[in-house]
Amino acid sequence: MQSIQESWQRFAACKGPYAELFYPPNTTERREEKSNRESDAKSICAECTVKSDCLEYAIEINETYGIWGGLNELERKVFTERRRRGR
Ligand code: SF4
Repeated sequence: MQSIQESWQRFAACKGPYAELFYPPNTTERREEKSNRESDAKSICAECTVKSDCLEYAIEINETYGIWGGLNELERKVFTERRRRGR
């Protein structure tokens, strides 16, 4: 039986050379650099066919880093809170 992760991650648009856009670097990243990196990552997410699966997975595992499903960590928290409140 395939895991949930295996079933959708095969179709992830972020596989390959752009993967580093989705997580902060090990070195210090200025605010503008983070904004530009995340914007580039989100543009890939916007075309991804498994965006919803990705976002739900990140929420399910309480992922605290990176861009998942087109949202960064803070945006996922806001999304989750709004959904919990029914907004
Ligand atoms: S939604 Fe974004 S982070 Fe998730 S699999 Fe697709 S491209 Fe990757």
